[in-house]
Amino acid sequence: MVELKEVEVKRDKSVFDQISEHNHEKVVFCHDKETGLKAIIGIHNTVLGPALGGTRMWSYASEAEALDDVLRLSRGMTYKAAISGLNLGGGKAVIIGDAKKDKSEAFMRRYGRFVKNLNGAYITAEDVGTTTKDMEYIRMETEHVAGLPESMGGSGDPSPVTAYGTYMGMKAAAKKAFGSDSLEGKKISVQGVGHVGGYLVELLAKENAQIFITDIYEDRLREVSEKYGAKVVGMDEIYDLDVDIYSPCALGGTVNNDTLSRLKCQVIAGSANNQLRDELVHGPALVEKGIFYAPDFLINAGGVINVYSELIGYNRESAYAQTERIYGYTLDIFELAEKEGIHTQAAAMQMAKKRIESIGKVHSTY
Ligand code: NAD
Repeated sequence: MVELKEVEVKRDKSVFDQISEHNHEKVVFCHDKETGLKAIIGIHNTVLGPALGGTRMWSYASEAEALDDVLRLSRGMTYKAAISGLNLGGGKAVIIGDAKKDKSEAFMRRYGRFVKNLNGAYITAEDVGTTTKDMEYIRMETEHVAGLPESMGGSGDPSPVTAYGTYMGMKAAAKKAFGSDSLEGKKISVQGVGHVGGYLVELLAKENAQIFITDIYEDRLREVSEKYGAKVVGMDEIYDLDVDIYSPCALGGTVNNDTLSRLKCQVIAGSANNQLRDELVHGPALVEKGIFYAPDFLINAGGVINVYSELIGYNRESAYAQTERIYGYTLDIFELAEKEGIHTQAAAMQMAKKRIESIGKVHSTY
């Protein structure tokens, strides 16, 4: 998974200023000299339940950048879980280091001990730079880990479920934009045909959409193109295509000042996190351009829904059934946005916050 670091790191702010800016409950700095582990666990909000979110391992340019990432990502998890109707809070962790060189069994198990010490306030899972094997090591130290391999009774790879939710959100947005949710014959560009993008293309091909794909990896492009009859386009060319739907499934921040003037689609619906470079600017700009934007954290929630299902006793069918509801939620968001005269990302945030607030009141009495 690759994401553009589109948010400027706030180096001029103190750690506590940054933590209080988005009202995080707890941020834990973990260090182990023996293994060289340096990790930060961010717990944003636990009103709805324990904070769940993956552990990302990345060679951050600075500790400030790592802190910024964990704060931003953990906050996003709070709203993703809330809008998906899950009894989960938002959390995330980052490990500072090179995922290819710095990991070992002891390293991951030491990290697992830090997760254990939080007594279930934070449940970890896989993310960029961590694997199911790492989750197995963490599981040796704590039960507060999800996304284990299917062979261990876990939910396995969340990508097919994420793709299914993205597809549901895309169909809802199509209904809004074109009056029908059928994607047959629709011209759809998919940016990034990795785990999620690949499964999404499969679903789109089944509906006989006209698919355009791009990626960094030529081998992968060739494979997906041959299998599903998708047309390969250049990495920059994708923004200028005359398509009905643009589906970002690689990077964050691809809806920005440069691309907005180039995009000709009527719908944006993809799995990438943080698609709007600046939601305050680009959210309203999309409305002005008449583009229907299906909020990223709503339609890419299939993965977390799948992992949540593992916590309550994994059942693939029920995970898919719950993910299917993204269709209805997306239509609700379009309606709310219209009613309130706001952009869809703001409407989705509003709905998520409302649920946290109202359930928080339920929990306020014993
Ligand atoms: P992935 O790494 O398997 O796939 C991403 C693909 O994008 C790769 O093939 C990569 O080569 C390609 N890519 C990178 N930069 C590109 C560029 N500039 N232009 C075109 N292609 C480019 O990741 P994934 O698991 O498929 O996730 C895709 C996106 O969805 C990520 O933003 C991720 O955060 C988000 N997401 C994934 C899940 C999940 O279940 N995997 C859940 C929620 C959100």
